[in-house]
Amino acid sequence: MSLLFPQETNAGYARIAVERGFDRYPDGLTYAVPEELADLGTGERVMVPLGRGDAPTPGYVIDRSESPGSRDPDALKWILRRDGSAHGLPAELMALAQWVARYYQAPLGLTVSAMLPAAVRRGVGTVKRRLLDIADGVSREQATTTKQKAVLETILGLPTDQRPVELNRLKQLSGIRTTGPVDRLLRDGHLVEHRRTEIEAQWHTPPPGELVPDEPTALQQGVIDAIGTHLGEGFSTHLLHGVTGSGKTEVYIRLIERVLAEDGIALVLVPEIALTPQTGARLIGRFPDKRVAVLHSGLTAAQRHQQWALAAAGEADIVLGARSAVFAPIPTPRLRLIVVDEEHDASYKQETVPRYHGRDVAIRRAQLAGCTIVLGSATPALESWWNATRRGVAQLHALPERAPGLTLPSVRVVDLVEERRRQDNAHELIGPTLSHGIHRTLDLGGQILLLLNRRGYSSYITCSNRTCGWVLRCEHCDVSMVEHRSGEVRSGSYVRCHHCETAIRLPATCPDCSRGIVRLGLGTQRIEKELVDRWPQLGEPGSLHRVDSDSMRSMQDFHEALGDFAAGRTKVLLGTQMIAKGLDVPGVRLVGVINADTAAGLPDFRAAERTFQLISQVTGRCGRGSAAGTVVVQTLDPDSRPITLAASHDYVTFAEQELADRDSLGLPPIGRLGRIVVRDPRRERGEADAQRIADQLGGLAEADTKVRGPAPCPIARIADSYRFQVEVIAPSASRLQSLLSTAREQLLLEPAGRIAVDVDPQSLL
Ligand code: ADP
Ligand code: ZN
Ligand code: ZN
Repeated sequence: MSLLFPQETNAGYARIAVERGFDRYPDGLTYAVPEELADLGTGERVMVPLGRGDAPTPGYVIDRSESPGSRDPDALKWILRRDGSAHGLPAELMALAQWVARYYQAPLGLTVSAMLPAAVRRGVGTVKRRLLDIADGVSREQATTTKQKAVLETILGLPTDQRPVELNRLKQLSGIRTTGPVDRLLRDGHLVEHRRTEIEAQWHTPPPGELVPDEPTALQQGVIDAIGTHLGEGFSTHLLHGVTGSGKTEVYIRLIERVLAEDGIALVLVPEIALTPQTGARLIGRFPDKRVAVLHSGLTAAQRHQQWALAAAGEADIVLGARSAVFAPIPTPRLRLIVVDEEHDASYKQETVPRYHGRDVAIRRAQLAGCTIVLGSATPALESWWNATRRGVAQLHALPERAPGLTLPSVRVVDLVEERRRQDNAHELIGPTLSHGIHRTLDLGGQILLLLNRRGYSSYITCSNRTCGWVLRCEHCDVSMVEHRSGEVRSGSYVRCHHCETAIRLPATCPDCSRGIVRLGLGTQRIEKELVDRWPQLGEPGSLHRVDSDSMRSMQDFHEALGDFAAGRTKVLLGTQMIAKGLDVPGVRLVGVINADTAAGLPDFRAAERTFQLISQVTGRCGRGSAAGTVVVQTLDPDSRPITLAASHDYVTFAEQELADRDSLGLPPIGRLGRIVVRDPRRERGEADAQRIADQLGGLAEADTKVRGPAPCPIARIADSYRFQVEVIAPSASRLQSLLSTAREQLLLEPAGRIAVDVDPQSLL
């Protein structure tokens, strides 16, 4: 390779997406390809010189071309080299990467990088194996030393199915310490060597017992057939609205069976929290002779790489994973079905660049692959409901009844104000109605799930003197919410900021008035204490389990806690939102919602939708066994629409009324929202930048597109940076995209380090 004579190339040119936080060149930069990289393919990871200093920078090949296009070939730089042994993006996923980058306004290089698990990019667990065999016609007599003889005899003594033999095993079997004798035999042509690259990892899914299939009900069969006719017939989107416990999983499984019978591959996405070993076991148990690759946060890096490589080689029949598995490298022609379970779940949204939505990327992937996609939920996201009922881009299928033998629980909504009046101790969080339910259920030997809804709330520490008003705040963030990690709040102990992780020492007394300090707000620890005080039997080890981000150090802890509950060892499971999803435990007779009032006062237009989802989902955890269950919902707002409609299991009415409200305000899903957040340690500069962005976007926008702001974000400061937001509401996704793309091309949204763009945002804090 020569930098001096670039015109000598006949290996052509390549467009490269460099891995940088900014994207002046959304279509990549053109480089000349040196002769020795003539076989470079789309998606491969390379190093290229970038900028005036020619800093070697990683990037990915977007595509190759014969000619440099409109560029002066003499001015083009050369690709330096391939980047190590790392995997690149499978070529067929490049079109998806380009869509994600454009739609979510993310740099393409970073997008490609994010689509590849770090373990895959770095090639973790890759080992090069040396396999040895005897060359044709060689016998033990060719050995010149006893050690060489031992080597030859060892190989000759092996059964043919164990040849060629791996170097380390050969050394062990023939009792030699160094590779000297082997190398010598190789040099003399008495041995032949095969090299193989393998990924070393334990196959991590233990083979579970085979599961006996349920006979589908007529309703399930109807849905299976209706969707089934579309399999193999190109792209189609299906929304499966089935109440909790209606047997959606059985529908997925039957469709997957059909796909596998035709040598197709199925991709199944579930929310991260729902991806327990049980979920995997349930699927694997129904396909005992198929290979299921599982991608989740509990894997080691090497396992992740191994599962990925299996999928890439087309060796996995089913790929199961959370959000990022939407990028699993399944060979496109064999991808026939994508299932997105609990498609409404907010955890499908990635909150760092690229800020993609797993469900929406899955739909796009299905479209590019020309396959069937099924979105399933008891409480479809309004976006999906809109698509199915108004836009006609998805077909609606309903499972309005629970599976045979299961009944929907009865739901009692109780007014917290009323409850307080009836209870002796005003500080107790568990009111008389729920308390009565707990008594009865424990007497009957049933299990109980208690949910503390913590979205938007947190505990906070304040002065005991009400007229003082002092609240412990993070020095670096505009939040009063501080959370402690363990134990009771004691003076001198540390509390931690939820947003910037700073630890703050708790003062002994109020710094303003010297009175004592108290912890307010709702905490799972407080409820735990209340439970044990009132039901001493719950103090016995294992009978009460608290699940929240404080008590769970890892996914492993979480899986264990759920395992104990599922096995009936734990009587009461107490937790935050984490426990509302996917649990299928027949012993649950009572579900209690300590506080249903979601995000009250938070500026989130989805607050009602979230409340409805939460109550419905948690209700769905109950009555999965032979006995019908009861749900008690404590709320300050018993007549509110999401609560009354969730209590009567009426999604359709809720969705229709909510859509009407959103429509009148032009909010999603009718309008499309883009949110731009400017962060700056200097308040004035941050505000001025946000103002400039709002002005310029306003100038670019057409009349039917609204630009709102700038305004301080609901959390106005995080980690010493002030935050300002500008919101854009456009009549369609394509209009939003073209406006933001224009802004990006005009460099209005730089620098990327301080300005974040979120398309279809889920979090509005
Ligand atoms: P969903 O995902 O819709 O909430 P599940 O798929 O978890 O519901 O099914 C709920 C329960 O009903 C599971 O225990 C499942 O085994 C059972 N089930 C599903 N379909 C049938 C059927 N056709 N006959 C009997 N039981 C069924
Ligand atoms: Zn902080
Ligand atoms: Zn005070």
